Amino acid sequence: MRWNGRESSNVDDARGGGFGGGKLVGGGLGALVIGLIVYLLGGDPSQVLQQADVPQQKTTQQTQAEDVLLSHTKQVLAYTEDVWDSIFTARGMTYSKPGLEVFDYATESACGQAGSASGPFYCPLDRKVYMDLCFFKEMDERFHVPGDFPLAYVIAHEVGHHVQNLLGTSEKVHDYMQHSGKAEANKASVKLELQADFYAGVWAYHANRMYHILDPGDIEEALNAAAAVGDDRLQKESKGYLVPDAFTHGTSAQRMYWFKKGFETGDITQGNTFGKDEDL
Ligand SMILES: [Zn+2]
Repeated sequence: MRWNGRESSNVDDARGGGFGGGKLVGGGLGALVIGLIVYLLGGDPSQVLQQADVPQQKTTQQTQAEDVLLSHTKQVLAYTEDVWDSIFTARGMTYSKPGLEVFDYATESACGQAGSASGPFYCPLDRKVYMDLCFFKEMDERFHVPGDFPLAYVIAHEVGHHVQNLLGTSEKVHDYMQHSGKAEANKASVKLELQADFYAGVWAYHANRMYHILDPGDIEEALNAAAAVGDDRLQKESKGYLVPDAFTHGTSAQRMYWFKKGFETGDITQGNTFGKDEDL
């Protein structure tokens, strides 16, 4: 992916800079309290305080790697702003841009507490994407998805949820999910997720036409990333067997199919993942 684009000004950096995690003063305070107790009991509190600081310190190398990711994040968000703005304008609508918050360890969203374990997500209530940059290190190390395009795919997918929010699709689907059984609700969730993958593909098509952002192999990297986060792959990894009714995002094949369809057509009207026979 070519990295020489404009950086979006809609990214909040809520990382703590390696000294206790921004909004997370709790950890540091907790260590101080424990340090005090240790002191009162006659121990050496500096040991507790040092230990408490160790996992939260980042090396200069880690910080530099994160700074690059942050710049890439801002550029991808800017590309999504330009692409969706032009698609909405062409359809006589106005695109309102989402925010994006980069955090480490944990943060508060209008949809509740977010932790690194929750992975990147979009909160429709405050219209913001939340992500911990460590996720991309994990994609590389745990899911073996190297390269820089997976970052673009993940952001474009989350922005896809924002588009669904603006178009009223997510509200319709969430209403339906509340009035249906678990298996039906999961099926509806899969369709919503696959449509977000489709929108990510539509974005890649237009971003490349407008800015020539793609290098050879980028689409393969994105498909790799889509396959790696398929429910079947993730479930097999964690459980060792498959429970299709519990799928909430779609299989690897489905996710690749819809991203590709978006990328090949570039046409948002082709993304009806819900099908004709569904009562949605
Ligand atoms: Zn999603």
